[in-house]
Amino acid sequence: MAQIELTGVSKSYETETAVAGIDLTFKDRVTTALVGASGSGKSTLLQMVNGLVRPDTGSVRLFGRPLDYENLAPLRRRIGYAVQETGLFPHLTVEKNITLLARLENWDNDRMRDRMVELMRLVELPKEYALRYPYELSGGQKQRVGLCRAMMLNPPVFLLDEPFGALDPITRREVHREFLRLQASEPRTMVLVTHDVIEAIALAEEIVVLREGRVEQHGTSEQVVREPASDFVAELFRTESP
Ligand code: ADP
Ligand code: MG
Repeated sequence: MAQIELTGVSKSYETETAVAGIDLTFKDRVTTALVGASGSGKSTLLQMVNGLVRPDTGSVRLFGRPLDYENLAPLRRRIGYAVQETGLFPHLTVEKNITLLARLENWDNDRMRDRMVELMRLVELPKEYALRYPYELSGGQKQRVGLCRAMMLNPPVFLLDEPFGALDPITRREVHREFLRLQASEPRTMVLVTHDVIEAIALAEEIVVLREGRVEQHGTSEQVVREPASDFVAELFRTESP
């Protein structure tokens, strides 16, 4: 039984179908990238996994159980969620932002401190930054703090929606390296939404290509690149410069 299983899920908004009958099982303890054009349903699908979006039809199973929409809080502790806009609290220091969830869980100070130091070391944020406020950080540093915060409770499932989108190319490469290092040291089931196929290939073992709310192809990164299921996929992964 996989940690994340979606069966026949659909979601429509007034005028649009965002997700149109998707069956998808994510492979445990690896990174799967969801790629596709803007509007193809990536974010909607991701938000179905943590219950932020409830499908019109179909079912979502997490850790072997159907999602309980009346009681999402316990589940959310087991699902890290990081978005492009980092969502850091501006009035809280880096330390308070990172340890937020652990404080809600009543962790003792030593344990909290140890975990924070470990995470900051992993993403190469200098310890002294713990006392800074978000406005005192660069975009890349904020994003690292956002990653630390989402990892604090060591969730077995981690959802990322274009988490590196706002970074300049050099910072982005650095953060990619840190991402790979984190994933190597604490492997977990990651679902990474990106419209950047280079990023998908660099970070993910598995790729799901979405097109207009449907799965166009699901395979290993290598399969998607070498054996595209359609001209659409081939075109998307045609990465040589024009
Ligand atoms: P992506 O993340 O791939 O860009 P989304 O999942 O955000 O795609 O959106 C898929 C489709 O659903 C788009 O056409 C979008 O306009 C529509 N959509 C998404 N969220 C909403 C919403 N809250 N209200 C209305 N339409 C929405
Ligand atoms: Mg999106």
